[in-house]
This record gives sequence, structure tokens and C-alpha cells, in this order.
Amino acid sequence: MHVDGQCHCGAIAYEAEVEPDTIAICHCLDCQRLSGAAFRSNVAAPAAGFRIVKGEPRHYIKTGESGAKRVHAFCATCGSPVYSSAVDNPQAYTLRVGALSQRDALGHPARQIWVKRRLPWVTTLGCVAEIDGQS
Ligand SMILES: [Zn+2]
Ligand SMILES: [Zn+2]
Repeated sequence: MHVDGQCHCGAIAYEAEVEPDTIAICHCLDCQRLSGAAFRSNVAAPAAGFRIVKGEPRHYIKTGESGAKRVHAFCATCGSPVYSSAVDNPQAYTLRVGALSQRDALGHPARQIWVKRRLPWVTTLGCVAEIDGQS
């Protein structure tokens, strides 16, 4: 399906083709640190269908525990994560689900990875008090 996304301030915008029901949840420490959240929700987009339509994201090269390097693209103005990819000749871009306009239509996550790093309360969120808005 065709999706479009943007950073929070709107300086960066992009479009891509993704498969529904392929969201991956990553609980790794790098995703927690880089997103500031408990986990990250990603969907892979083949390079052929991915296009930046506005702005130029800034790149941070992350070196993982394995020594593998990855580009993490983000907006230099608002700091929103935009994608990650291989450093050289990426064949796919890992998009951040929360930044996609069609995030509600992407279906259910297909898998969770790095569950050994998962924060223990993530699996019991259904038991936490719920409020429609902020308060
Ligand atoms: Zn921005
Ligand atoms: Zn991760």
C-alpha cells in the first residue's frame, strides 16, 4: 500500500510502498534510546518505492552491538526519526510507523524482536488506567 509520512515540524516529507501486517516492534536498547520510547514500531519499505518529497534529513551513523553500522535519518529541526537504512546502497528503508499518515491502516504487528530487552510493563498495558485525552 502507498503511504506518506512526515516529521513533526513538516520540514521532511516522504512516500513509500509497504506491505500491510508487516509492522515489527523492536524492544532493543538502541531503539529505546533513539526513540525515547519503550519500544519502536517499524515497517520496511523497498528502496524502489521510497522517495523523499520534501527536505533533507540529517544522518546519524549508529554502530550496533554487533559492529554493524546503520544510517538513522532524522529531522534536524524537530528531531523526529524518519527512517533507518544500510549505509551503502540501501535496498530498503525502515520507516517509523508513528510518522506515517496511514499508521492506523497498516494492520497488526507481525513480530516483536529483542524481547529480552522489553520493559516488563509493556505486556500488561491493558491493565493500566486509560484516559481519552491528556487528562
Ligand atoms: Zn521536522
Ligand atoms: Zn531496535
